Amino acid sequence: MTSADSVFTLADLDAWPVTGTWLAVLGHPIKHSVSPAMHNAALAMLAKTQPAFADWHYVRFDVLPEELPQALKLLRIHRFLGLNLTVPHKVLAMKQVSVVDEAARPIGAINTLLATESDWKGFNTDGYGLSAGLRASLGIALRGADVILLGAGGAARSAAVECLQNGAASVWIANRTAANLEALLADLRPLTPAGTRLEGFAPHALPHSLPSGSILINATSAGLKPGDPSAIDLSALPKPKAVFDMIYNPPQTPLLKQAASLGIPHAHGLPMLVNQGAKALALWTGQPAASLVPVMGAAANQALFGA
Ligand code: NAP
Repeated sequence: MTSADSVFTLADLDAWPVTGTWLAVLGHPIKHSVSPAMHNAALAMLAKTQPAFADWHYVRFDVLPEELPQALKLLRIHRFLGLNLTVPHKVLAMKQVSVVDEAARPIGAINTLLATESDWKGFNTDGYGLSAGLRASLGIALRGADVILLGAGGAARSAAVECLQNGAASVWIANRTAANLEALLADLRPLTPAGTRLEGFAPHALPHSLPSGSILINATSAGLKPGDPSAIDLSALPKPKAVFDMIYNPPQTPLLKQAASLGIPHAHGLPMLVNQGAKALALWTGQPAASLVPVMGAAANQALFGA
């Protein structure tokens, strides 16, 4: 039942065990998610010193968007304690849960649910994952930083809110589709602290005032597929101090290859994934997130790259 490779559907709930504490990730597609490997490795570690965790299990469910309301209801009835949500559920779920954590509301998306007495409370741990991932992989913080952010989808939205809430000096956002960029900027303006600069620009028309020494974060999907172009031409920008690509598979995107060739410190997005997962598991178990990161990181590396 807990095999890291099993993919369950809602029909499997008819014969679900009545014992154990259950956690799950819901998505579509979900087959390649490394979350079960990460979370089950951390639960096994916890069980060594706290035997109650031996009966905790994390599984994956393939859930279509139209099945999400029914899935949340059934999983609550079957007494699941926590859920992760991934593509395409993070935005849809906002309207399906009775309580949303205050910090997640401005993001407009949730990726972690905790069972309440009768329903679910929604959280978003992606922003925490980004901050902690930047610290772990590049030793840098958002506070006081100039950030160039590529993308205007869900990941860019959580990154932008994290930058604004964590004292970035300026946030410069570029996106392929201007209308999506404008919609994101309109949502971000009311959240922008006085003294923080928020700007948008087209990737093919770089503003002269772009800062040098920025943290450049790729939150687009450009680089996911073989043959994808680089998310941006780094040689056309004032030199960033670091480049972070949220993509982790493949671990070396055209953007990161160019950063390497220009001698710019760079990292892929696995530390972000691991830290958002650790924060979610911390919400469910009460264990400190930082204590879960090493084992989750090792399991994610093993599952993705066999190393
Ligand atoms: P999304 O909501 O679908 O947004 C996709 C974004 O990528 C949009 O801004 C889109 O621009 C842009 N885009 C797509 N293809 C492009 C191309 N060929 N050239 C330039 N821009 C392109 O997806 P998301 O959830 O934000 O995820 C974005 C990326 O972040 C994905 O690669 C995902 O795997 C990664 N991610 C990583 C983590 C992590 O933990 N490391 C967490 C979340 C997401 P338009 O508006 O023009 O369509």
